[in-house]
Amino acid sequence: MSTARNPFVWSLERHDMFQTCPRQYYFAFYGAWGGWNEQAPAQARQLYILKRLHPRQQWAAQHIGQALADLIQHARQQPDGPAETAAKQVELMRQEFRESRSGAYRRDPARIAALYEHEYRVAVPPEDWKATVDTVAVAVRQIAASPFWNAWRDLPDDAFIFPETRAGFDLRGLRVQTRPDLAVCHGGRVVVHDWTAAALPSPARRLRMGLHVLLALEQWTADPAAVQAVAWNLPLGDQETLTFDAEDLDTIREFIMDSAEEMLFPLEDPQQNLAGGGDLFDFTDNPGHCPACSFLKVCPRWKT
Ligand code: SF4
Repeated sequence: MSTARNPFVWSLERHDMFQTCPRQYYFAFYGAWGGWNEQAPAQARQLYILKRLHPRQQWAAQHIGQALADLIQHARQQPDGPAETAAKQVELMRQEFRESRSGAYRRDPARIAALYEHEYRVAVPPEDWKATVDTVAVAVRQIAASPFWNAWRDLPDDAFIFPETRAGFDLRGLRVQTRPDLAVCHGGRVVVHDWTAAALPSPARRLRMGLHVLLALEQWTADPAAVQAVAWNLPLGDQETLTFDAEDLDTIREFIMDSAEEMLFPLEDPQQNLAGGGDLFDFTDNPGHCPACSFLKVCPRWKT
């Protein structure tokens, strides 16, 4: 069993999950805690395995992120860079698909890809799997055809920052995680990019991009006027550039603090971030969310 402390962290992903279903949030961020350890109690281990599941669209989005990072870091100057990067990534997806289908993630969930469709035996036609994989090559082509590409090819390597998974900033003692796919820092300006944000409804898009701007202000510049945020809709190739003034950013800070307060409310011990058995975390009042939930097979709501 893990003895590592489970600190309270706010992120938009956690906020969205809590708003969708507090019990799902409990399973993912409290019940599954420590389940990466093979010796963890059976329930934590099972919840951790289920937490690691990704529906195929999310899996493809992760691979788009990896492929674009590889392309921009290592193949910007190569004429065949986009095609070769896409082919390499697709091969990796094929390998992960086979591993997931074999159920190998159950013995090593921290490292081996786990697809929701395999765990829940969802019948997906082969052409749908192919279309999922194809989105990666299309996204790579869209970036290479975008107005940004030529400018990026002339920039030095150190202008490109790919934030780590747990990237974030501190807000009044609260840890906030947010991770743009790319930050381009050059000539005193910072442009943060998010490959999928433009597909979100407008208020959600602004919130997500505003969080990336707050990260940029903590890490790369203190001037909001020097930061732009580009929300992409890959593989369509659409993009929108957003800016934020001091008042916009204050509104986002207040939103985070209010949301965190709500998320701490069901905890048994908010000071220590201890949730107990989870009974204080409600089930969603919209059962339409349940069929896509990774925790469906263990959720007491559906146990007779
Ligand atoms: S199955 Fe439904 S009620 Fe249970 S955790 Fe998932 S979304 Fe919530």
